[in-house]
Amino acid sequence: MTDAADLAARVREGDLRLHELDDHADADTAAEARRLLVESETDATLDAVGNYGFPAERAESNIENMLGAVQIPMGVAGPVSVNGGTGGDTASGDGEGVYLPLATTEGALLASVNRGCSVLSAAGGANARIIKSGMTRAPVFRVEDVVEAEALVSWVRDNVDALIEAAESTTSHGELLDVTPYVVGNSVYLRFRYDTKDAMGMNMATIATEAACDVIEAETDAELVALSGNLCTDKKPAAINAVEGRGRSVTADVTIPREIVEDRLHTTPEAIAELNTRKNLVGSAKAGSLGFNAHVANVVAAMFLATGQDEAQVVEGANAITTAEARGGVSESGDSEARRTSSGGDLYLSVSLASLEVGTVGGGTKLPTQAEGLEILGVRGGGDPPGSNADALAEYIAVGALAGELSLLSALASRHLSSAHAELGR
Ligand code: NAP
Repeated sequence: MTDAADLAARVREGDLRLHELDDHADADTAAEARRLLVESETDATLDAVGNYGFPAERAESNIENMLGAVQIPMGVAGPVSVNGGTGGDTASGDGEGVYLPLATTEGALLASVNRGCSVLSAAGGANARIIKSGMTRAPVFRVEDVVEAEALVSWVRDNVDALIEAAESTTSHGELLDVTPYVVGNSVYLRFRYDTKDAMGMNMATIATEAACDVIEAETDAELVALSGNLCTDKKPAAINAVEGRGRSVTADVTIPREIVEDRLHTTPEAIAELNTRKNLVGSAKAGSLGFNAHVANVVAAMFLATGQDEAQVVEGANAITTAEARGGVSESGDSEARRTSSGGDLYLSVSLASLEVGTVGGGTKLPTQAEGLEILGVRGGGDPPGSNADALAEYIAVGALAGELSLLSALASRHLSSAHAELGR
């Protein structure tokens, strides 16, 4: 009997539990024992799941009860030229731009984003800027009544330095930026916001906030109920992230000359602008949607998987608004009114992602295939200065989302255009 078969038999006999296998064998043997056990108790064969290409011990901090790995095909779109604000600037390089790694099982997604990338580059590239940055954790405290609630809020306002000292004693990279209080009856929520540099920062922020909460409990009458009171808000759709931001708030935009829209996308700036208003803005509003976009989640999810991000945070990462305008050229007099109103103009397109939580260190970024995905973008590991790699990653994802929006909106608009042409041409 192999070691793995022997271990599987011991689990079956109740001598060992699944999670104890790692104490009795190396990580690969423990995974094999689990596969044998699951195969013997189900109709599954796990040959493909067991055919993974990295030592299982590399995933020890990422998963428990590991069986093997699910493989998701990865491709690239691009290159796309990016004028980024902090690190994500390909314009200063050889001018060819950056390849965007995307992992997905949705056929046509890469082709669509690739088409968008090539049009963005033909238009001179996309701009991308981080507008706000900060990972949040919001513990909830129990107090007696609103009098005590107000006293806690005042204490926090007067003692921010003590909270910063406690929080930052737990990390050499994280910085506590601010603490925003919210009161509901006798519950007090304190939304701590941190600069977590190149880490997505959820562990970092949680550990730092726990240290700050110890000070609050020692110095006030408030009692901590939970380190997360859901006003953070992590992995749930929430308006607070859309308004206040979480992780990186990042916007990408582009102005595409009219000829390129007509020649390459077979539509017009006016048709895309109208479609965006009726679909992404009015349609989303009528649906009560938090996201006002066509399919930003597609690019966020695919780039998250390709670069080792926490995939559950696609929930807030895809919280984005797409805008589109048909813009006239600048008139000879530089008249801005003419720029706004003249027809026959160019296409301005933007996408603003309010709460994109990304990192290039920690979490799943350490896994070998995901680390290679980050290498394609040139942002593996800590940046110089710290935070610049995660900023660049956020900018690249925003540009990928812009390419995806451009391509899908154009496909929809040109279909409308061609059917309208068929109708009108008769
Ligand atoms: P982490 O892997 O827990 O920590 C990353 C650490 O890397 C930092 O704490 C920092 O150490 C160090 N580091 C080295 N170079 C750095 C640089 N240039 N910039 C920033 N940090 C640098 O990662 P995390 O980002 O804090 O948390 C991500 C993980 O949290 C993911 O696995 C995710 O799935 C998980 N997660 C946790 C929770 C939770 O509630 N705890 C919620 C959601 C997700 P120092 O702090 O010592 O400086």
